[in-house]
Amino acid sequence: MSFKSTFLEKIALTSDFPMGLEIEKARGTYIFTKDGKKYIDFISGIAVSTLGHCHPQVIQAIQEQITRHLHVMVYGEYIMDAQVEFAQNILNQLPAKFERIYFVNSGTEANEGALKLAKKFTGRTKLFAFRNSYHGDTHGSLSVTGRNVYRDPYLPLLPNVHFFDFNGDDILNSIDETVAAVIMEPIQGEGGIIPSNSDWLNKLRNVCNENGTLLIFDEIQSGFGRTGKFFAFEHYGVEPDILCMAKAMGGGMPIGGFAASSEIFSVFRNDPPLNHVTTFGGHPVSCAAGNAALNVLLSENLMANASAIEEMTKNILKADGVVEVRGFGAMLGLELRDKDMTEKVVGYCFEHGLILGWTLHSNTLVRLAPPLSIPKTTLKSALNLIKTAIQLYK
Ligand code: PMP
Repeated sequence: MSFKSTFLEKIALTSDFPMGLEIEKARGTYIFTKDGKKYIDFISGIAVSTLGHCHPQVIQAIQEQITRHLHVMVYGEYIMDAQVEFAQNILNQLPAKFERIYFVNSGTEANEGALKLAKKFTGRTKLFAFRNSYHGDTHGSLSVTGRNVYRDPYLPLLPNVHFFDFNGDDILNSIDETVAAVIMEPIQGEGGIIPSNSDWLNKLRNVCNENGTLLIFDEIQSGFGRTGKFFAFEHYGVEPDILCMAKAMGGGMPIGGFAASSEIFSVFRNDPPLNHVTTFGGHPVSCAAGNAALNVLLSENLMANASAIEEMTKNILKADGVVEVRGFGAMLGLELRDKDMTEKVVGYCFEHGLILGWTLHSNTLVRLAPPLSIPKTTLKSALNLIKTAIQLYK
Protein backbone atom coordinates (compact mmCIF):
# COMPACT_ATOMS: atom_id res chain seq x y z
CA MET A 1 0.00 0.00 0.00
CA SER A 2 1.31 3.44 -0.91
CA PHE A 3 1.24 6.23 1.63
CA LYS A 4 2.69 8.85 -0.68
CA SER A 5 -0.38 11.06 -1.10
CA THR A 6 -1.21 10.88 2.62
CA PHE A 7 2.41 11.77 3.41
CA LEU A 8 2.19 14.80 1.12
CA GLU A 9 -1.16 15.90 2.55
CA LYS A 10 -0.95 15.07 6.25
CA ILE A 11 2.65 15.34 7.34
CA ALA A 12 3.81 18.92 8.02
CA LEU A 13 6.43 19.22 5.30
CA THR A 14 9.80 20.83 5.87
CA SER A 15 10.58 21.31 2.21
CA ASP A 16 8.73 21.74 -1.08
CA PHE A 17 10.85 18.92 -2.50
CA PRO A 18 10.95 15.97 -0.09
CA MET A 19 12.95 13.01 -1.38
CA GLY A 20 9.84 10.92 -0.88
CA LEU A 21 11.43 7.45 -0.79
CA GLU A 22 8.84 4.97 0.45
CA ILE A 23 10.78 2.81 2.86
CA GLU A 24 10.22 -0.91 3.05
CA LYS A 25 13.21 -1.76 5.21
CA ALA A 26 16.84 -0.85 5.83
CA ARG A 27 19.75 -3.21 6.51
CA GLY A 28 23.46 -2.51 6.69
CA THR A 29 24.48 -0.10 3.96
CA TYR A 30 21.18 -0.41 2.10
CA ILE A 31 17.72 1.12 2.10
CA PHE A 32 15.00 -0.89 0.32
CA THR A 33 11.95 0.92 -1.04
CA LYS A 34 8.40 -0.28 -1.62
CA ASP A 35 8.82 -0.17 -5.39
CA GLY A 36 11.45 -2.90 -5.11
CA LYS A 37 14.52 -0.66 -5.46
CA LYS A 38 17.66 -0.80 -3.35
CA TYR A 39 19.80 2.23 -2.50
CA ILE A 40 23.24 2.58 -0.97
CA ASP A 41 22.81 4.96 1.95
CA PHE A 42 25.89 7.14 1.57
CA ILE A 43 24.73 9.71 4.13
CA SER A 44 23.77 7.27 6.92
CA GLY A 45 20.50 9.08 7.67
CA ILE A 46 22.71 12.15 8.20
CA ALA A 47 25.52 10.66 10.23
CA VAL A 48 23.32 8.37 12.33
CA SER A 49 23.70 4.81 11.09
CA THR A 50 27.46 4.59 11.58
CA LEU A 51 27.20 0.81 12.09
CA GLY A 52 24.86 0.45 9.11
CA HIS A 53 21.11 0.07 9.53
CA CYS A 54 19.62 -2.34 12.07
CA HIS A 55 22.77 -3.90 13.44
CA PRO A 56 21.66 -7.28 14.90
CA GLN A 57 23.24 -6.56 18.31
CA VAL A 58 21.39 -3.25 18.54
CA ILE A 59 18.10 -4.93 17.62
CA GLN A 60 18.71 -7.64 20.22
CA ALA A 61 19.44 -5.09 22.94
CA ILE A 62 16.21 -3.24 22.09
CA GLN A 63 14.24 -6.49 22.23
CA GLU A 64 15.72 -7.39 25.61
CA GLN A 65 15.00 -3.96 27.04
CA ILE A 66 11.37 -3.83 25.88
CA THR A 67 10.65 -7.09 27.71
CA ARG A 68 11.81 -5.42 30.97
CA HIS A 69 10.47 -1.87 30.90
CA LEU A 70 9.87 1.20 28.77
CA HIS A 71 9.53 4.66 30.33
CA VAL A 72 9.08 4.59 34.10
CA MET A 73 9.79 8.10 35.45
CA VAL A 74 11.02 11.56 34.47
CA TYR A 75 14.77 12.06 34.34
CA GLY A 76 17.10 11.49 37.24
CA GLU A 77 14.87 9.82 39.81
CA TYR A 78 14.90 6.06 39.23
CA ILE A 79 17.94 3.88 38.63
CA MET A 80 17.75 2.07 35.30
CA ASP A 81 20.41 -0.46 34.31
CA ALA A 82 20.41 0.58 30.65
CA GLN A 83 21.00 4.25 31.47
CA VAL A 84 23.71 3.63 34.05
CA GLU A 85 25.57 1.12 31.88
CA PHE A 86 25.50 3.43 28.88
CA ALA A 87 26.73 6.41 30.92
CA GLN A 88 29.60 4.36 32.32
CA ASN A 89 30.52 2.97 28.91
CA ILE A 90 30.63 6.42 27.27
CA LEU A 91 32.59 8.02 30.10
CA ASN A 92 35.10 5.15 30.01
CA GLN A 93 35.99 6.19 26.46
CA LEU A 94 36.36 9.90 27.30
CA PRO A 95 39.15 11.83 29.06
CA ALA A 96 38.94 11.78 32.86
CA LYS A 97 37.62 15.35 33.09
CA PHE A 98 34.26 14.09 31.80
CA GLU A 99 32.83 12.65 34.99
CA ARG A 100 29.12 12.77 34.28
CA ILE A 101 26.71 12.77 31.41
CA TYR A 102 23.20 14.19 31.12
CA PHE A 103 21.02 12.32 28.62
CA VAL A 104 18.47 14.04 26.39
CA ASN A 105 16.51 13.03 23.29
CA SER A 106 18.22 14.86 20.44
CA GLY A 107 21.13 16.97 19.34
CA THR A 108 19.50 20.33 19.74
CA GLU A 109 18.43 19.47 23.29
CA ALA A 110 22.03 18.59 24.14
CA ASN A 111 23.11 22.05 23.01
CA GLU A 112 20.24 23.71 24.86
CA GLY A 113 21.30 21.97 28.06
CA ALA A 114 24.96 22.81 27.53
CA LEU A 115 24.21 26.51 27.05
CA LYS A 116 22.10 26.63 30.20
CA LEU A 117 24.76 24.74 32.13
CA ALA A 118 27.49 27.15 31.01
CA LYS A 119 25.41 30.20 31.92
CA LYS A 120 24.55 28.89 35.36
CA PHE A 121 28.06 27.65 36.13
CA THR A 122 29.81 30.86 35.11
CA GLY A 123 27.09 33.26 36.22
CA ARG A 124 27.57 35.01 32.86
CA THR A 125 25.21 35.38 29.91
CA LYS A 126 27.38 36.29 26.94
CA LEU A 127 27.79 33.53 24.35
CA PHE A 128 30.25 33.37 21.47
CA ALA A 129 29.53 31.30 18.37
CA PHE A 130 30.63 31.03 14.75
CA ARG A 131 29.39 32.08 11.35
CA ASN A 132 28.29 29.15 9.24
CA SER A 133 27.68 26.93 12.26
CA TYR A 134 24.66 24.72 12.82
CA HIS A 135 23.51 23.73 16.29
CA GLY A 136 19.86 22.80 15.88
CA ASP A 137 16.43 24.29 15.38
CA THR A 138 15.07 24.99 18.86
CA HIS A 139 15.36 28.60 19.99
CA GLY A 140 18.56 28.38 22.06
CA SER A 141 20.43 26.34 19.47
CA LEU A 142 19.16 28.55 16.67
CA SER A 143 20.39 31.56 18.63
CA VAL A 144 23.97 30.27 18.29
CA THR A 145 23.56 29.03 14.71
CA GLY A 146 25.50 31.28 12.36
CA ARG A 147 23.35 31.65 9.29
CA ASN A 148 20.91 34.51 8.94
CA VAL A 149 18.45 32.93 6.51
CA TYR A 150 17.54 30.42 9.20
CA ARG A 151 17.55 32.96 12.04
CA ASP A 152 15.80 35.96 10.55
CA PRO A 153 12.23 34.57 10.52
CA TYR A 154 12.47 33.91 14.26
CA LEU A 155 14.08 37.07 15.60
CA PRO A 156 14.45 38.12 18.32
CA LEU A 157 16.44 35.14 19.53
CA LEU A 158 18.65 34.92 22.65
CA PRO A 159 20.36 38.24 23.40
CA ASN A 160 24.09 38.59 23.98
CA VAL A 161 25.21 36.13 21.32
CA HIS A 162 28.16 37.22 19.17
CA PHE A 163 29.40 35.58 15.98
CA PHE A 164 32.97 35.24 14.74
CA ASP A 165 34.75 33.82 11.71
CA PHE A 166 35.58 30.14 12.09
CA ASN A 167 39.36 29.71 12.29
CA GLY A 168 39.72 33.49 12.56
CA ASP A 169 41.78 35.52 15.04
CA ASP A 170 39.01 37.94 16.01
CA ILE A 171 37.53 35.66 18.61
CA LEU A 172 40.92 35.15 20.27
CA ASN A 173 41.14 38.88 20.93
CA SER A 174 37.54 39.25 22.02
CA ILE A 175 37.10 36.72 24.82
CA ASP A 176 37.14 38.29 28.27
CA GLU A 177 35.77 37.53 31.71
CA THR A 178 32.22 38.37 30.68
CA VAL A 179 31.93 35.47 28.21
CA ALA A 180 30.12 32.41 29.55
CA ALA A 181 30.95 30.04 26.72
CA VAL A 182 32.14 29.52 23.20
CA ILE A 183 30.07 26.93 21.36
CA MET A 184 31.50 25.35 18.23
CA GLU A 185 31.73 22.29 16.04
CA PRO A 186 35.40 21.23 15.83
CA ILE A 187 34.53 20.23 12.26
CA GLN A 188 31.66 22.33 10.93
CA GLY A 189 29.16 19.92 9.42
CA GLU A 190 26.25 21.78 7.86
CA GLY A 191 28.60 24.65 7.12
CA GLY A 192 30.22 22.43 4.48
CA ILE A 193 32.57 20.02 6.32
CA ILE A 194 35.09 22.63 7.44
CA PRO A 195 37.72 21.35 9.88
CA SER A 196 39.10 23.75 12.45
CA ASN A 197 42.73 24.68 12.32
CA SER A 198 44.72 22.87 15.00
CA ASP A 199 46.89 25.83 16.10
CA TRP A 200 43.90 28.11 16.27
CA LEU A 201 41.87 25.62 18.29
CA ASN A 202 44.70 25.26 20.80
CA LYS A 203 44.91 29.04 21.12
CA LEU A 204 41.15 29.27 21.58
CA ARG A 205 41.34 26.67 24.36
CA ASN A 206 44.04 28.71 26.12
CA VAL A 207 42.15 31.99 25.87
CA CYS A 208 39.04 30.29 27.29
CA ASN A 209 41.11 28.93 30.19
CA GLU A 210 42.59 32.36 30.93
CA ASN A 211 39.14 33.93 31.14
CA GLY A 212 37.11 31.20 32.84
CA THR A 213 35.06 30.84 29.66
CA LEU A 214 33.70 27.37 29.02
CA LEU A 215 34.41 25.73 25.68
CA ILE A 216 31.48 23.70 24.37
CA PHE A 217 32.08 21.27 21.51
CA ASP A 218 29.03 20.31 19.52
CA GLU A 219 30.11 16.87 18.28
CA ILE A 220 26.61 15.81 17.41
CA GLN A 221 27.62 15.07 13.84
CA SER A 222 31.32 14.28 14.28
CA GLY A 223 31.02 12.01 17.32
CA PHE A 224 30.77 8.28 17.89
CA GLY A 225 33.53 7.30 15.54
CA ARG A 226 32.51 9.09 12.36
CA THR A 227 35.89 10.78 11.89
CA GLY A 228 37.94 7.76 12.93
CA LYS A 229 38.25 8.83 16.57
CA PHE A 230 35.54 8.43 19.19
CA PHE A 231 35.17 12.22 19.12
CA ALA A 232 36.81 14.59 16.64
CA PHE A 233 38.49 16.63 19.39
CA GLU A 234 40.97 13.76 19.72
CA HIS A 235 42.42 14.71 16.31
CA TYR A 236 43.34 18.07 17.81
CA GLY A 237 44.36 17.17 21.35
CA VAL A 238 42.01 19.91 22.58
CA GLU A 239 39.39 18.97 25.16
CA PRO A 240 36.20 20.99 25.61
CA ASP A 241 34.58 21.65 28.99
CA ILE A 242 31.21 20.44 27.79
CA LEU A 243 30.84 17.83 25.06
CA CYS A 244 27.53 17.53 23.18
CA MET A 245 26.56 14.37 21.36
CA ALA A 246 23.59 12.73 19.59
CA LYS A 247 22.91 11.26 16.11
CA ALA A 248 24.96 8.01 15.93
CA MET A 249 24.86 7.74 19.71
CA GLY A 250 21.68 5.62 19.80
CA GLY A 251 22.57 3.17 17.02
CA GLY A 252 19.44 4.39 15.18
CA MET A 253 17.34 5.26 18.24
CA PRO A 254 16.79 8.86 19.40
CA ILE A 255 19.09 10.02 22.16
CA GLY A 256 21.54 12.83 22.88
CA GLY A 257 23.70 13.86 25.76
CA PHE A 258 26.21 16.32 27.15
CA ALA A 259 29.17 15.38 29.28
CA ALA A 260 31.19 17.54 31.70
CA SER A 261 32.88 17.44 35.09
CA SER A 262 30.99 16.87 38.34
CA GLU A 263 31.93 20.39 39.37
CA ILE A 264 30.26 21.94 36.34
CA PHE A 265 27.20 19.71 36.62
CA SER A 266 26.79 20.53 40.31
CA VAL A 267 24.82 23.69 39.39
CA PHE A 268 22.00 21.58 37.93
CA ARG A 269 21.32 19.92 41.31
CA ASN A 270 19.91 22.83 43.24
CA ASP A 271 18.92 26.50 43.26
CA PRO A 272 16.23 25.40 42.52
CA PRO A 273 16.21 21.61 42.49
CA LEU A 274 14.91 20.15 39.22
CA ASN A 275 15.94 23.26 37.28
CA HIS A 276 16.79 21.19 34.22
CA VAL A 277 14.70 18.07 33.71
CA THR A 278 13.27 16.09 30.84
CA THR A 279 10.54 13.47 30.71
CA PHE A 280 12.00 11.17 28.08
CA GLY A 281 15.72 12.06 28.12
CA GLY A 282 17.84 8.92 28.40
CA HIS A 283 14.95 6.65 27.49
CA PRO A 284 15.88 3.11 28.56
CA VAL A 285 15.31 1.62 25.09
CA SER A 286 17.51 4.27 23.48
CA CYS A 287 20.17 3.74 26.14
CA ALA A 288 20.12 -0.04 25.63
CA ALA A 289 20.42 0.46 21.86
CA GLY A 290 23.17 3.05 22.28
CA ASN A 291 25.13 0.89 24.63
CA ALA A 292 24.96 -2.05 22.23
CA ALA A 293 25.97 0.24 19.35
CA LEU A 294 28.96 1.51 21.30
CA ASN A 295 30.01 -2.05 22.12
CA VAL A 296 29.83 -2.94 18.41
CA LEU A 297 31.80 0.17 17.45
CA LEU A 298 34.55 -0.85 19.87
CA SER A 299 34.54 -4.64 19.50
CA GLU A 300 34.40 -4.61 15.69
CA ASN A 301 37.08 -1.91 15.65
CA LEU A 302 34.96 0.05 13.18
CA MET A 303 36.73 3.36 13.78
CA ALA A 304 39.81 1.86 12.15
CA ASN A 305 37.87 1.74 8.86
CA ALA A 306 37.49 5.52 8.75
CA SER A 307 40.95 6.29 7.44
CA ALA A 308 40.59 3.70 4.65
CA ILE A 309 37.25 5.28 3.68
CA GLU A 310 38.86 8.71 3.63
CA GLU A 311 41.83 7.51 1.61
CA MET A 312 39.80 5.66 -1.01
CA THR A 313 37.37 8.57 -1.33
CA LYS A 314 40.11 11.14 -1.75
CA ASN A 315 41.94 8.91 -4.27
CA ILE A 316 39.00 8.02 -6.46
CA LEU A 317 37.43 11.47 -6.38
CA LYS A 318 40.68 13.26 -7.14
CA ALA A 319 39.14 13.87 -10.52
CA ASP A 320 38.84 16.58 -13.09
CA GLY A 321 35.84 18.74 -12.18
CA VAL A 322 36.27 18.34 -8.43
CA VAL A 323 37.17 21.48 -6.49
CA GLU A 324 38.07 19.66 -3.27
CA VAL A 325 37.39 16.59 -1.15
CA ARG A 326 37.81 17.46 2.51
CA GLY A 327 37.12 16.22 6.00
CA PHE A 328 38.15 13.42 8.29
CA GLY A 329 37.38 9.69 8.08
CA ALA A 330 33.80 9.16 7.01
CA MET A 331 32.78 12.79 7.57
CA LEU A 332 33.67 14.07 4.13
CA GLY A 333 32.52 16.71 1.69
CA LEU A 334 32.93 16.87 -2.07
CA GLU A 335 33.07 20.47 -3.30
CA LEU A 336 31.92 20.90 -6.88
CA ARG A 337 31.97 23.84 -9.26
CA ASP A 338 28.47 25.20 -8.80
CA LYS A 339 24.93 24.47 -7.66
CA ASP A 340 23.81 23.20 -11.05
CA MET A 341 26.61 20.64 -11.32
CA THR A 342 26.09 19.56 -7.70
CA GLU A 343 22.37 18.97 -8.25
CA LYS A 344 23.05 16.98 -11.41
CA VAL A 345 25.70 14.78 -9.77
CA VAL A 346 23.48 14.08 -6.76
CA GLY A 347 20.48 13.45 -9.05
CA TYR A 348 22.40 11.07 -11.32
CA CYS A 349 23.68 9.06 -8.38
CA PHE A 350 20.19 8.87 -6.88
CA GLU A 351 18.80 7.53 -10.18
CA HIS A 352 21.54 4.91 -10.08
CA GLY A 353 20.80 3.80 -6.52
CA LEU A 354 23.17 5.94 -4.46
CA ILE A 355 21.85 8.37 -1.87
CA LEU A 356 23.97 11.50 -1.43
CA GLY A 357 22.96 14.83 0.03
CA TRP A 358 23.77 18.45 0.64
CA THR A 359 24.81 20.21 3.78
CA LEU A 360 22.40 22.91 5.00
CA HIS A 361 24.58 25.96 4.44
CA SER A 362 26.15 25.01 1.11
CA ASN A 363 24.74 24.11 -2.29
CA THR A 364 28.03 23.15 -3.89
CA LEU A 365 29.10 20.59 -1.31
CA VAL A 366 28.06 16.95 -1.58
CA ARG A 367 27.90 15.23 1.79
CA LEU A 368 29.74 11.91 1.89
CA ALA A 369 28.99 10.05 5.13
CA PRO A 370 28.84 6.30 4.53
CA PRO A 371 28.54 3.87 7.42
CA LEU A 372 31.91 2.83 8.86
CA SER A 373 30.82 -0.74 8.16
CA ILE A 374 30.44 -0.22 4.39
CA PRO A 375 32.09 -3.12 2.53
CA LYS A 376 35.14 -2.03 0.48
CA THR A 377 33.63 -3.22 -2.80
CA THR A 378 30.42 -1.27 -2.18
CA LEU A 379 32.43 1.81 -1.28
CA LYS A 380 34.48 1.49 -4.43
CA SER A 381 31.49 1.09 -6.72
CA ALA A 382 29.70 4.03 -5.04
CA LEU A 383 32.74 6.26 -5.50
CA ASN A 384 33.15 5.18 -9.12
CA LEU A 385 29.51 6.05 -9.75
CA ILE A 386 30.10 9.52 -8.29
CA LYS A 387 33.17 9.85 -10.49
CA THR A 388 31.16 8.90 -13.59
CA ALA A 389 28.58 11.57 -12.69
CA ILE A 390 31.34 14.15 -12.24
CA GLN A 391 32.78 13.33 -15.66
CA LEU A 392 29.32 13.65 -17.22
CA TYR A 393 28.52 17.06 -15.73
CA LYS A 394 31.90 18.74 -15.24
N1 PMP B 1 24.50 20.09 15.92
C1 PMP B 1 25.04 19.59 14.80
C2 PMP B 1 26.51 19.79 14.55
C3 PMP B 1 24.26 18.90 13.88
O1 PMP B 1 24.81 18.43 12.76
C4 PMP B 1 22.89 18.72 14.16
C5 PMP B 1 21.97 18.00 13.19
N2 PMP B 1 22.31 18.10 11.86
C6 PMP B 1 22.36 19.24 15.35
C7 PMP B 1 23.19 19.91 16.20
C8 PMP B 1 20.91 19.09 15.70
O2 PMP B 1 20.64 17.78 16.05
P1 PMP B 1 19.14 17.27 16.09
O3 PMP B 1 18.62 17.31 14.70
O4 PMP B 1 19.21 15.88 16.66
O5 PMP B 1 18.38 18.19 16.99
